[in-house]
Amino acid sequence: MFIVRREVAKTIRTKAIDQAKLRAKERDSYTCQKNPNHTGQMHGSHIIPVGAGGIIAADPDNIITLCASCHKLAGDSWHEAPLEQQWFHKKFPGRYDRLKAKHETRPIKKYEWQEIYDKLKVENET
Ligand SMILES: [Zn+2]
Repeated sequence: MFIVRREVAKTIRTKAIDQAKLRAKERDSYTCQKNPNHTGQMHGSHIIPVGAGGIIAADPDNIITLCASCHKLAGDSWHEAPLEQQWFHKKFPGRYDRLKAKHETRPIKKYEWQEIYDKLKVENET
């Protein structure tokens, strides 16, 4: 008998990113950071996109909570030109520059994703 579980298909990198999103949403009290009056489903939105590579993809500091509609509105422009998002820079002065300085594109080893996943999972469960 062969049982396929969806969990198995997720890479440790994806699992680390999921934990980072959860961490960020808890930090932000599941409140849309663009407009706290917004309700509905909340998303973890990357500031420096996952596609830019690096371990910063699983750094909660690189993720903010946005409601589904703000996340959708932000769309590609959010990831391609975050500097043009005036509200973001007003609310989080210096954060984008700090993240850019932290961002490195070296290949990340599997054990590094595992370490981040383990650390965030413990933080999320306490
Ligand atoms: Zn919103």
